[in-house]
Amino acid sequence: MTRPAVERTFVMVKPDGVQRGLIGEIIKRMEQRGLQVVALKMVKPSVEHVSAHYPTDDVWIKRLGDKGFNVFNELGIDLKKAMGTTDNLEAGKKVRQWLIDYMTVAPVVAMVIEGIHARDMVRKIVGPTLPNKAEIGTIRGDYSVDSPAAANVEKRSIKNLVHASETKEEAEKEIAHWFSAEEIHEWDRPDHKAMF
Ligand code: UDP
Ligand code: MG
Repeated sequence: MTRPAVERTFVMVKPDGVQRGLIGEIIKRMEQRGLQVVALKMVKPSVEHVSAHYPTDDVWIKRLGDKGFNVFNELGIDLKKAMGTTDNLEAGKKVRQWLIDYMTVAPVVAMVIEGIHARDMVRKIVGPTLPNKAEIGTIRGDYSVDSPAAANVEKRSIKNLVHASETKEEAEKEIAHWFSAEEIHEWDRPDHKAMF
């Protein structure tokens, strides 16, 4: 962590990733890029733990609602019919609850990833939130197929395999939420000397 631009981010293989046997593939993609696992564990989180992991502020919840709304608008699907509301806060609250239901059906694999611009790099490896928008070559683009147009009608979360922190603040909060200081390890990857 003493080298310039090296930072830490929080990553989690979600229940669908665990159930589909993709733990190894997901970790491999980050390691092959040159990023480093510095903490790792499998957990069956409680509803309370998952609920505290996700933000509770209206701005974040509205953004959650908007992600589905954008897809419905693109497809010309009536928001009221699809989500039962045209209010992004109300829709976001529903999605947040479905997300908590989804995150607690099976164990997850939580980890801290360290490396140069780790947060941004991991987000690129993972791909955008909606599988239907994710490019081939990203984890979500290569292994998931879901869309709000399918998920919201069934009143469930989108299955997109991985969670990864988006901001510095999110990373700090999430690392502290899932790991104690003793569970995070400082170690050197000797091949980094040939990389940067
Ligand atoms: N999500 C969903 N439906 C939506 C938008 C999001 O089920 O319309 C779920 C999805 O599992 C996503 C999570 O909510 O990964 C958190 O949303 P966020 O916008 O933070 O996406 P991420 O950071 O995971 O890409
Ligand atoms: Mg997010």
